Amino acid sequence: MLACVRCGNADIKDAPRCPDCGCPLTLSAWKDFGPPRGLTLDTGCVNARDGDSHLSQLELWAAEGKLTLQRANAMLSELSGDKRVAKARLLAPHPRVFTWNESVWGGPDVLAGPDLEDEIGMLLFPTSKPLTSNQWHDVQHLRQHVRTGGEVFVTRNRTTHPAPRYSTAYTSAIGGTDRSINT
Ligand SMILES: [Zn+2]
Repeated sequence: MLACVRCGNADIKDAPRCPDCGCPLTLSAWKDFGPPRGLTLDTGCVNARDGDSHLSQLELWAAEGKLTLQRANAMLSELSGDKRVAKARLLAPHPRVFTWNESVWGGPDVLAGPDLEDEIGMLLFPTSKPLTSNQWHDVQHLRQHVRTGGEVFVTRNRTTHPAPRYSTAYTSAIGGTDRSINT
């Protein structure tokens, strides 16, 4: 069962797109849909020394207004080193989830997607109970990404983020054969 991060449809069996809003759910479906706009960077993708050409390309596209690079709240609590923290602060935080009596219609807060904390924890770390601090942070990145309607999760970690529906592998989305992110 899949859940659409765009419209909240939580009853999608196995389809390349959300049947309600058309949001692509597979890498190949993105090719017909157009480039993604909202990208969440994992903590390992803070390009502090500008040494990663793929991340630098994403930063260039962000500066050109072609996409938005975002971070979960968990990123700043995980990072150390002045340079890395300063670079991370340049990323836009995920938008706040719309809260009754606090948020305003038409404001920046977003209507929440599904809260998949338990599901993501089980998917990433099925044998860990309880989660370690690092594992908990890994879950929070993806949880907030889904909850706030992020479109692509950028990570270099191939072993702890195996779910293709919620993580777009770093190389396949940016430097590999899938060119759907190119604008
Ligand atoms: Zn949808």
